[in-house]
Amino acid sequence: MSRRKKIYEGKAKILYKGPRPGTLVQYFKDDATAFNAQKKAVLNGKGVLNNRISEFIMLKLAGIGIPTHFIKRLNMREQLIKEVEIIPLEVICRNVAAGSICKMLGLEEGSALPRTLIEFCYKKDELGDPVVSEEHIFAFGWATPAEVSELVALSLRINDYLCGLFAGVGIRLIDFKLEFGRFVDENGNHIILLADEISPDSCRLWDIETGRKLDKDRFRRDLGDVTAAYSEVATRLGIIKTNPGSTPTLSIVPNETQ
Ligand code: UDP
Repeated sequence: MSRRKKIYEGKAKILYKGPRPGTLVQYFKDDATAFNAQKKAVLNGKGVLNNRISEFIMLKLAGIGIPTHFIKRLNMREQLIKEVEIIPLEVICRNVAAGSICKMLGLEEGSALPRTLIEFCYKKDELGDPVVSEEHIFAFGWATPAEVSELVALSLRINDYLCGLFAGVGIRLIDFKLEFGRFVDENGNHIILLADEISPDSCRLWDIETGRKLDKDRFRRDLGDVTAAYSEVATRLGIIKTNPGSTPTLSIVPNETQ
């Protein structure tokens, strides 16, 4: 790792220069932060799980024609990705009321929303990633109207697909956050790629039968068993194989990309 040039270190991931121009290596740390990094912990194994879960989801999404930054997983904690110019917006997609929308609008957690909602937040840690409107996005030039239409269309397709994927393993997708980047493809076309990660760090995932939380809210709200919940998501998705009666292990599914 230290051989590589560090490009950026975030709260849960590090980006290194990749082996070829236009590529980066995305390293998943075990660090967990919440409430704009006021709460911090190291959760052993979280990075390994998120690497695997995000790889799995990015490959599934590529399979339905969503362009993503993911190239291949390199090892337990790293993946090779395409270098993009990150659009400074977090796209939040909500199916059920939870988290900040409950506070903002006085909704009860778990209550139905009239329809799937897409929200934009300006990526600015110092400001706590405030919710912004399209007016702000266009006025400040964070993205063009055509880009925002594309972000909404891609996010809704991703939501439809992921709702089904998770429902198939008994999990309700409550909400999630996406990030996108600008990229010039081999034909010189300017396209938008899905970037960052999709994992229990960036989604709310509730067991359909019991409502048990299987995501980062276990950390945010001190519910315990955070990595066990992430492991359960990976196991249900078929990423981790378990022997009956044993705890899930990450080592027995071979790295098919190597
Ligand atoms: N989220 C995220 N990173 C952020 C903010 C939100 O991954 O910086 C995810 C969060 O895990 C949840 C969804 O986006 O799945 C909606 O988060 P919300 O706006 O409710 O914020 P929160 O109350 O979780 O801070």
